[in-house]
Amino acid sequence: MRNRSFLCVLPIVAGLICFGLAATGQPGGGGKIRVLIVDGQNNHDWARTSPLLANLLESTGKFSVERATTPPRGAKADAWRTFRPSFGNYSVVVVNYNGETWPGDVRTAFERYVASGGGVVVVHAGNNPFADWEEYNRMIGLGWRNNRFGWRIYLDDGGRIHRVPPGEGPGAGHGRQHEYVVTIRDPEHPVTRGMPRQWLHTRDELYHGQRGPAEKMHILATAYSDPRTGGTGVHEPVVWYVPYGEGKVFTILLGHVGRSQADPVAMRCVGFVTLFRRAAEWVATGRVTLPVPRNFPSADRTSVIDLPRFGD
Ligand code: ZN
Repeated sequence: MRNRSFLCVLPIVAGLICFGLAATGQPGGGGKIRVLIVDGQNNHDWARTSPLLANLLESTGKFSVERATTPPRGAKADAWRTFRPSFGNYSVVVVNYNGETWPGDVRTAFERYVASGGGVVVVHAGNNPFADWEEYNRMIGLGWRNNRFGWRIYLDDGGRIHRVPPGEGPGAGHGRQHEYVVTIRDPEHPVTRGMPRQWLHTRDELYHGQRGPAEKMHILATAYSDPRTGGTGVHEPVVWYVPYGEGKVFTILLGHVGRSQADPVAMRCVGFVTLFRRAAEWVATGRVTLPVPRNFPSADRTSVIDLPRFGD
């Protein structure tokens, strides 16, 4: 009997070890970092940007990427039964999703995944959904919400951080798409280290007036939101992270790709590509080994990688 109970315990111990490795962000099989991209609903072209994002990671040789796709908007409850991502099998979850809320047990599983050390990278409209999900709002710090929802954060010309209370100032929005300068605010962080202090991003939306609990926010980059393009006249946070339990939640607001857009130019920007790859590595391992490429944009010159045009 003793031997039998010992054998029964073995798989449990092995399972705990595996869970521990996944939860602490160690690379999975083959030494690659396992990434799950969640998509399925978005007012952007998720069906084409998810493979693009997967390619940006896999082409480094450091990541293996899978996808979890929700049912389409308006699907019956039955269709959601198959959406049960095994978050714990991954070290990074990429949120390329902006749609209906997830089932309660999927939300709980996601909270546990992050709290126990899982990494998350939120891309562009990934900070739009789940306004009524308190823990998601805490994870992302700031979301696409109205001005009564929560705090707003911006930087003035002197680099000082201002917190604007709920009800004051603008809520979420963006002006006309245009090229804009990204300013690195923390040049010592592993994700931004080695980047020029200012670099010119390709044509993109520039979100402003994002709102949320804004707790424990580490702002890594901002962009000046120019009133001449419909902006707010202050420096809006565009890249940041929030620690959540043992995990890290990294938000990149760059990366607008509309549904009818032939050229995903915002995601071809070498600045976006480098931020995205390094963020994924950092939330998984706490380190960054991926270099800043030599063709990185400068303050007055954009730089893009070659990708097939969507329309071709
Ligand atoms: Zn957009």
